[in-house]
Amino acid sequence: MKNRIILFGGTFDPIHLGHIRAAEAAQQYLDAERVIFIPARRSPCKLEPPSASEEDRLRMVQLAIEGHEGFEVSDCEFHRPAPSYTVETVQEFRERLGSEADLFWLLGADAVKDLPRWYQIDRLMELCRMAVMYRAGYPKPDFSLCKPYFTAEQIRSLEENVVPVPLVDISSSEIRRRLACGQDVSDRVPAPVAEYIRRRRLYGCGC
Ligand code: ATP
Repeated sequence: MKNRIILFGGTFDPIHLGHIRAAEAAQQYLDAERVIFIPARRSPCKLEPPSASEEDRLRMVQLAIEGHEGFEVSDCEFHRPAPSYTVETVQEFRERLGSEADLFWLLGADAVKDLPRWYQIDRLMELCRMAVMYRAGYPKPDFSLCKPYFTAEQIRSLEENVVPVPLVDISSSEIRRRLACGQDVSDRVPAPVAEYIRRRRLYGCGC
């Protein structure tokens, strides 16, 4: 659908096939024209800072999305101080793209439990729709625990925009752990990303 845009934020430390498969399925399911990957400078929801530099994470996203129609990357969060608040990012896109743009913020089911604590969540949900996808290892998105914190309309919007993506059991933290032990990750990241990690010796990769 023209003007329908998915904003996909993450630390992408590193980007992996779970991100890519989920973004492809969400693009199709929501009939979105574009998916914009937005690496965070630092997520407010994570205790540890990213392991790889901003430059490396951005480059890995660029390599991973090459050839995917409608996939783009934005480094806008690198230009603001940390932590990277989603509401500020979506506000930026809203100003850039205008009121005509139909914006979705894509996130995995693992993030549902933190949603009520997201900075300015009410404002964020006015600026865009939250599209929560299935994620392997987590229950199907269930907003019953969020009910005390959201209006009935917000809960309805969350429920209406659940995205049933295929379950791909991959996480960046597991990839970092494997690389630190010298294990192979070539079945978990796109080939050019695996090659980049190897060449730059990221994540303690000694290969
Ligand atoms: P980490 O293991 O370091 O916490 P991660 O694998 O969750 O990282 P992020 O960059 O934090 O990767 O994820 C960005 C977004 O993508 C989040 O909303 C997350 O829920 C979602 N996501 C990550 N991996 C998957 C996956 N395999 N399937 C579906 N969604 C995913």
